[in-house]
Amino acid sequence: MNGYKCIKRAERPSAYSTGAFNLCCDALGVSRSGITLYSVVGEGTASAWVIPEARQYNDGRYFPAGHRFIFYDPEFLSRLEVSYNSAWPSIGVMAHEIGHHRAWAKNPDRTRDNWDCEQAANYYQGWAMAILGAGRADIELRHGNRDKDNGSKTHPSSYHIMRAIGQGWKDAGGEKNTSSKEPDFLKPDLRWWPDEQPRTPS
Ligand SMILES: [Zn+2]
Repeated sequence: MNGYKCIKRAERPSAYSTGAFNLCCDALGVSRSGITLYSVVGEGTASAWVIPEARQYNDGRYFPAGHRFIFYDPEFLSRLEVSYNSAWPSIGVMAHEIGHHRAWAKNPDRTRDNWDCEQAANYYQGWAMAILGAGRADIELRHGNRDKDNGSKTHPSSYHIMRAIGQGWKDAGGEKNTSSKEPDFLKPDLRWWPDEQPRTPS
């Protein structure tokens, strides 16, 4: 789904999502106010967008050309938390999307090869996770099956993804971190779902 359709269905993020977003932005030195975070239920993924033209959002909000967005599906992130019994994979997704904006700072039209874009975002994902306290096992939770795939047209293989995440994590001092302690904001009563519309994942 493209960014415009996501804007139409977007809902304000939960406090939990905003907390994760803020921590990842700070870890990567990205301005929190430069990106608008929205929840899009049922999208099945998370994505980073830059809108080329000014746009009026249907709740009346106006966004100038070049405005940055991150859309995330709360169900997708909740499912990751449940299947890995850890908050780190979903925090990693948030860091990855912010990493796209960090990497596109000088290249908003996304003209580079998509694998390069992905690897840059993966690098920043590892970097942010190291700053937030993730250990080696935490960064490998989602991409540890190194021999199982060859990647796709748009996304590198798990092996390449893990190399980029690992490099970012190392460069940010991850090897010195042995705590693996999840950041303090991860409270069980606050989740990825939009605050205004609590739901039960189906
Ligand atoms: Zn990506």
